[in-house]
Amino acid sequence: MAKVTAHTPRISRREGAPSRPAARGGTFAAALPLNSSPAPASPAPQRRVQTLDKLAILADAAKYDASCASSGSSRRDSVGGRGIGSTEGMGICHAYAPDGRCISLLKILLTNFCIYECHYCINRNSSNVRRARFTVEEVVALTLNFYRRNYIEGLFLSSGVIRSPDYTMEQLVAVARQLREEHDFRGYIHLKTIPDADGELLAAAGRYADRLSINVELPTVQALSALAPEKDATTIRRTMGRIRSRVEENREARREARQAGRPARRPPRFAPAGQSTQMIIGADATNDATILASSAQLYASYGLRRVYYSAFSPIPDAHAALPLQRAPLAREHRLYQSDWLIRFYGFEHAELTTPDSGMLPLDIDPKLAWALRNRERFPVDLNRASRELLLRVPGLGTKTVARILRLRRQQAVRLADLEAMRAPVRKALPFIVCADHRPALGELDAENLRARLAPPPRQHSLAL
Ligand code: SF4
Repeated sequence: MAKVTAHTPRISRREGAPSRPAARGGTFAAALPLNSSPAPASPAPQRRVQTLDKLAILADAAKYDASCASSGSSRRDSVGGRGIGSTEGMGICHAYAPDGRCISLLKILLTNFCIYECHYCINRNSSNVRRARFTVEEVVALTLNFYRRNYIEGLFLSSGVIRSPDYTMEQLVAVARQLREEHDFRGYIHLKTIPDADGELLAAAGRYADRLSINVELPTVQALSALAPEKDATTIRRTMGRIRSRVEENREARREARQAGRPARRPPRFAPAGQSTQMIIGADATNDATILASSAQLYASYGLRRVYYSAFSPIPDAHAALPLQRAPLAREHRLYQSDWLIRFYGFEHAELTTPDSGMLPLDIDPKLAWALRNRERFPVDLNRASRELLLRVPGLGTKTVARILRLRRQQAVRLADLEAMRAPVRKALPFIVCADHRPALGELDAENLRARLAPPPRQHSLAL
């Protein structure tokens, strides 16, 4: 279901595409299926326009879902026959597959009609927006056409709720089923799940999709009931729990079949790329400490692959409870950095926010902010410290730390080694000791250390 964020889906030709034939230019309209209209009597060009129109509406509506990130670049396109290729277009975004590849997905809503009234959502029932609805066959045809033209490697499909949660979920599952069973589609499929839908539909969705996601929408139960009155936090979490159980049971059954030497009897995989969720930040007064605590609980309880954070931006005719200002994108970025530190660097969520405000500083990254608040823990000796301590040094990422650990088995680590590893040495210097470096006396306690290490202020509103 659609959320509010500032991501804009873009089209771009990817590098190193797999073995399918490369697209040879052309336009989106040319890629649209002729047989995709529900009105078979219409002349073909008209049908194309109609589908293009729907695509414009439903790809634009899907951009509010942050669950697959778009790559940014300056506006370029080949409209009017000038040049070839485009960085703008409808409905194509980039996401990371479980094996780490960046893949492009057709990202659309099945429909932006919705019977719900989530106050923060542009597609809510009372919203005055243009509405459209694809048929199942249209989405299938679009996906296959774009795939054959090498525009995409998969589908990200979400929807407003129409008629009932079960009916909507049936439609989403029907798209995935047709793609897999009738067209032997082997590309990536990410389906948004409707929380109130029947468990059997969920099971079917997991059979066809690589990833399932359900949005928790807001960081707290209170915020959800205030801003999304038809949604129920308990139902959302129960559905996440069901998905987790099915993923784990499936993994176990496949492992047992493999160990028993019966690989042919392994059950088909259930949502092999796991599940993810999204929460909107800045639509209510929840601070970053509570957001990160909520994420930590979601990761621990439901085995989520990712929690996506989507900075709220105001919508037309908004509910009075919503802020008039958009949440800073820098806040979304700092939350992603903190999320990463919790999952891969051993930080606890409560360590990362400023104790008095419960917020993350926007001007410096959360790891540097933590180091500046805990100066007594430094300097850390690169040649002796544990991996856990090295991971706490500003500027040292997981790969650099792994290289340091390998190198120091053979020789003492020096500054030149850090430079060769392309680590940001200037940022790390006050916090480390190595064979040819030790911070000057009093450097760590210097009042201006924060100012020295903070990146220079940047003008974000102008495209350079
Ligand atoms: S269910 Fe809520 S968030 Fe989803 S499309 Fe409808 S109004 Fe928007």
